[in-house]
Amino acid sequence: MKWRVLLELTEANGNVETRELVTGHRPTSAIFPEDIGLTLAEGKSVLAAMQTELVQAQADEYCDHRRICSHCGSRRAIKDGRTRQLTTLFGVVKVEAPRLNPCRCGVASRRIVSPLAEIMRDRCTQEYERILVKIRSLAA
Ligand SMILES: [Zn+2]
Repeated sequence: MKWRVLLELTEANGNVETRELVTGHRPTSAIFPEDIGLTLAEGKSVLAAMQTELVQAQADEYCDHRRICSHCGSRRAIKDGRTRQLTTLFGVVKVEAPRLNPCRCGVASRRIVSPLAEIMRDRCTQEYERILVKIRSLAA
């Protein structure tokens, strides 16, 4: 048997995109008890792949949203592209993080904007931080 796990993303504008996360297979003729279902490593791999795709998709959508100037509605130019790292419960995700030039109108913001710095300030998810605090309190 072969399988593949797909992630279907529907953007705010209604566009639907499907991304393949992982594939796997098991022998059909000689199935052993250890071949039934996912192993822990396979399950972690599925979650890590899903987290990576989801975080990048959310980051892309947020950056597209932030490119629109709130004053004049023009799209800001991308100054440069960097990467940003986000630590989550399902692994560390590296995402593309563009920086945006100020809008030509100069009204809404005269600074270079890094949209992902706004939503990934601590470079880890809040859930990851809460679990880390809980573990530290149990170890103390
Ligand atoms: Zn503007």
